[in-house]
Amino acid sequence: MCGIVGYIGHREAYPVIIKGLQRLEYRGYDSAGVALLDGDLNVYKKQGKVATLHDFAKDKPLGAKVGIGHTRWATHGAPSDHNAHPHVSNSGKLVMIHNGIIENYAAIKTELTQKGYTFKSETDSEVFVNFIEDIYQNTLVDLAEAVRLALTKVIGAYAIVILSTENPDLVIAARKGSPLVVGLGKNEFFLASDATPIIEYTNEVVYLDDQEIAIIENNNLTIKNIEDVEMKPYIQKIDMELEAIEKGGYEHFMIKEIFEQPRSIGDCLRGRLNANEGHLHLGGIQDYINKITNADRILIIACGTSWHAGLVAEYIFEEFCRIPVEVEYASEFRYRNPVVGEKDVVIAISQSGETADTLAAIELAKSKGATILGVCNVVGSSIPRATHAGSYTHAGPEIGVASTKAFTAQISVLAMMALMIAHKKGAIKESVYRNLLLELDAIPDKVAKCLDLNPQIEIISEKFKNATNFLYLGRGYNFPVALEGALKLKEISYIHAEGYPAAEMKHGPIALIDENMPVVFIATKDGSYEKIVSNIQEVKARKGQVIAVVTEGDTEIGSMADHIIEVPAAHEALMPLISVVPLQLLSYHIAVMRGCNVDQPRNLAKSVTVE
Ligand code: GLU
Repeated sequence: MCGIVGYIGHREAYPVIIKGLQRLEYRGYDSAGVALLDGDLNVYKKQGKVATLHDFAKDKPLGAKVGIGHTRWATHGAPSDHNAHPHVSNSGKLVMIHNGIIENYAAIKTELTQKGYTFKSETDSEVFVNFIEDIYQNTLVDLAEAVRLALTKVIGAYAIVILSTENPDLVIAARKGSPLVVGLGKNEFFLASDATPIIEYTNEVVYLDDQEIAIIENNNLTIKNIEDVEMKPYIQKIDMELEAIEKGGYEHFMIKEIFEQPRSIGDCLRGRLNANEGHLHLGGIQDYINKITNADRILIIACGTSWHAGLVAEYIFEEFCRIPVEVEYASEFRYRNPVVGEKDVVIAISQSGETADTLAAIELAKSKGATILGVCNVVGSSIPRATHAGSYTHAGPEIGVASTKAFTAQISVLAMMALMIAHKKGAIKESVYRNLLLELDAIPDKVAKCLDLNPQIEIISEKFKNATNFLYLGRGYNFPVALEGALKLKEISYIHAEGYPAAEMKHGPIALIDENMPVVFIATKDGSYEKIVSNIQEVKARKGQVIAVVTEGDTEIGSMADHIIEVPAAHEALMPLISVVPLQLLSYHIAVMRGCNVDQPRNLAKSVTVE
């Protein structure tokens, strides 16, 4: 949540920052602000999008070579100009941007208020910068040390960048629980929540670790940890192309990312799957294969769309590996007292690799001795660093807030993991295994065929754009797809939608069905086909409007549904990779037709780094 950018060097800071904020806007977009230090400290902040800030700031003094910027996802205090970051300390000397939550801010605020501090905002962040100021003013230490001391006392999560009017050659940054990357240019440094604002200028970066402080002073970077021990910066080269983070002619990132899926799934399989030779290899989990094969249980931990990918994986692992699997919401898992043992393997799934609840759940499972694997998209993010091993999804940057290509890449990785384990364990027949590898290999082409359905889905969307409710029903492997279809629709179009196992309909949701209720059936040919045909009849008998995703050539459902969307056939275990695509397109078009901002839906943010 929230994007932060900082710059110090020989360029004008403002253009670097504003462009960086635009790239990070997917992380939060209720207000934005910049602070520029050029002899004077100029702070411009505005409620609304980065474009509003830019309109406001463009005629103001912008010449500084050092500055910070923030795009906010409010946690403490409503979105407003005064709650927007950066926040200036009472003396006017320190200015700070903050991503995260300071949980003990109320106690600190009371203490500071008693000392005479006043606050212009309701944020925890303004308390934080004044807390640093208070330590700085009342001890004989330098600013970096004051920051460190403050960090030892705050509870919560943060990525911060702080500037001081007393020393315009100094930038201090720190992180715990929220991501922060330092970009190393020639006589210049960049700071950002992810690498996207940086890649245009340099491909050398240092990902700060939790509880590390970066001090950039007089063109030098020093990193120390919160215990005041100097750390050697681990410089990594990133190979992200600029096109990957731009819209490339599409109207929205979401539709670009939906259309990227044949390629992103292909990228995910590349170098890992050689179907013709019956070869499958996920190097990242190689050393843990025996551990997984002998696991008592697999526990999948995730949130949101990743949780749906986890449900698909549960079915695949249980069917082919014969290992019991449980899928848990990370936020629930971490706050109960789960039974986890040393023979459990945990798979944590997160697109961003920064999801706060998932990270906390990992720590809990680790403390109980479990082996932890990660399935993440963002290379170098926190979850891959917190896990024992794992596999990246290699889907490329996902910027649309509603996850699409990350979901299909997650299922692709999880399917590969399951098949690799099943094969190793001898739990799957060789012929079935070989066939599934070929099926997996064919998925990118089949997804491309689904994308050809776009014009037809646009026409269907037009018919249902004014609906107020939707029901999504599926069975077996298509049940998690029903959940995902409903989530996609509600998060970007604000239409209430529910996903259900089709057979559960008669235990409640059937009461909702009348002529105004669109019901999306994911009814491709699989083991429960006949059953779902009956469920469609039940809905039709009650005058519901049926949109059915069916296997190409299906005439049976065609004769009873109001609209059918025909998708290529595939092995049922891999069908979610195909059947979800029309649902992504349906929600996209309905949301656009309703005038919604599909890339930045209200109240949401891309990577949920707060609890
Ligand atoms: N807690 C801070 C606020 O409410 C920062 C939120 C964020 O990460 O955007 O302003």
